[in-house]
Amino acid sequence: MDPDPPRVSLLAKRAEAVQRLRGLEASFTDIVEAAQDSNLDDEHDPEGTTVAVSRAQVSSLAAETRLQLVAIDAALVRVQTGTYGVCSQCGAMIAPARLEALPATTKCISCAQLVNRARD
Ligand SMILES: [Zn+2]
Repeated sequence: MDPDPPRVSLLAKRAEAVQRLRGLEASFTDIVEAAQDSNLDDEHDPEGTTVAVSRAQVSSLAAETRLQLVAIDAALVRVQTGTYGVCSQCGAMIAPARLEALPATTKCISCAQLVNRARD
């Protein structure tokens, strides 16, 4: 068995996110270049709107992935400092199944549900 499973799974998630970010950045460049090549008028050409929409989608996905990376890095720090798997809200241990599904989570299931309820 691996002596440090959280770290290993976090590093795997991190590699995945970096890969995804690279792909998104590449497609963003493609979209921008395609738009420049075709010399579309964003305001009057319906194709121009499509370009703007896909550009917005790609950049919001990239922003989301960057946030994931930040969360994963923070979790790696917690692994190092020995606070990984402890709920930042109530200090309880986060269930292993939850950590497996969301390795970068900082809250136990009850606290996460409270936050979601507060948002609604
Ligand atoms: Zn909690």
